[in-house]
Amino acid sequence: MALKISNALLDQLRAHGEQTYPHECCGVLVGQFDEAGGKAVESVIACGNTRTDSPKNRYHISPAELIRIQRESTLEGRDIVGFYHSHPDWPAKWSSTDLDEAHWTGCSYVITSVEKGRAALTNSFLLAGDEQSKHFEDEDIEAK
Ligand SMILES: [Zn+2]
Repeated sequence: MALKISNALLDQLRAHGEQTYPHECCGVLVGQFDEAGGKAVESVIACGNTRTDSPKNRYHISPAELIRIQRESTLEGRDIVGFYHSHPDWPAKWSSTDLDEAHWTGCSYVITSVEKGRAALTNSFLLAGDEQSKHFEDEDIEAK
């Protein structure tokens, strides 16, 4: 299982993290689930970070924005396959807050580290289990 994404979309996601630095960026990954459990990203949708109280180490996508993206994706025959956010001057690893605030099991949670304003490592984590047993598993990013 892997998250498939084009280099252009991966660059777009990483560039968003550079633009919002030193604050966190966030957004939604829209595309397709395949039968094998893999995912293909077809568009990267940048969202505004609504966590104005602590934008350097928290992110939040407004429910209204998420509902709109979900509705538009469904109309296009696509699904929300994941989410992304940046970690300014922090490793590309999930935090306990990230796990607490992740609710879309089966989706990918991509984290890109931004060091001194430049996008560094980008990792993806699969949210596995259900709401009670949820946990992150390392997931390969297949960029081409
Ligand atoms: Zn995080």
